[in-house]
Amino acid sequence: MNNRTLLTCTAWTFLLFTMTGCVELNCPLPDHLNKTVKQELLSSASAAADIKHNSWSMGGLCADRIIFYDHEKKWQMLLVRNLKKPVGPFWYLPHDNENSAFSAAVYAAKKYGGGFLAVEANGNRYASGKDPNRNFKTSSAYTRTVFGIIDSFRGKNMPYLALHSNRNGHRNNGGEGTVSMRVTDTHTLSFPAGTIKIGRNKGLGDEDSLVYLSGRDLDRKKINALNAKGLNVKFELVNGRANDNSMSNYIALHRSGIGYVNIEAEDGDVSTQKKMIDRVMQLIYSGALRFMPFSRTPA
Ligand SMILES: [Zn+2]
Repeated sequence: MNNRTLLTCTAWTFLLFTMTGCVELNCPLPDHLNKTVKQELLSSASAAADIKHNSWSMGGLCADRIIFYDHEKKWQMLLVRNLKKPVGPFWYLPHDNENSAFSAAVYAAKKYGGGFLAVEANGNRYASGKDPNRNFKTSSAYTRTVFGIIDSFRGKNMPYLALHSNRNGHRNNGGEGTVSMRVTDTHTLSFPAGTIKIGRNKGLGDEDSLVYLSGRDLDRKKINALNAKGLNVKFELVNGRANDNSMSNYIALHRSGIGYVNIEAEDGDVSTQKKMIDRVMQLIYSGALRFMPFSRTPA
């Protein structure tokens, strides 16, 4: 830990009167990842905006900046791991403008182990003109590398997990965002847990609080299990013809045996997103969100 990090840490600790500890930086990567990605040293927690904003709550976690290339395009991401329990639930955060999702991911990694991978794009949704969540083409370096990292830390029986925060409401209804329980189309269906609430930070019932699942066919069992926990569900029906190269589509088409669970909440409402994470984790641990194994070898 260098002097500047130490100073920031001490100041926060003093201000908050808590001993949450501080983030560690630049931990060694597993050998097999060193072959596909390059580590770029972080000089201090302030060298990455998301780490700077969350460092005071990141005790027990380590953050690395990694880079890799897909053709000429350079991708830069933060890899955050729980030092004591690096294998567990592992989350993907493709959008750097969704700051609440980052804070929620910190909470999840501290509480449940595992970690997360977050795209860095100067605080923007797009990274040099590309939406990181519309870039999952088959056999691209991007897809291979992102899934390679996730699979290095994803615990057994864990689905692919993602976190997003979305802006209040939906543009079609005078809101600001592009995702809402109130807006559906032929292949994205809404399954509310109760009455949908409109407005800012309305908690689990907010039109922007939703668990996003995807698959070739509706999975009523998982939808019902999530609804029973008070969680709204959006289910994306995926087929190869309408593939938008998002993570949800890629997994439904190529890794359906593992499955996809994406927790979205309104931007700024970290406490609701944390609640949603807790409930989803309870369902995963109880087996209610378990996906089919790839294949079973006959005994
Ligand atoms: Zn997003």
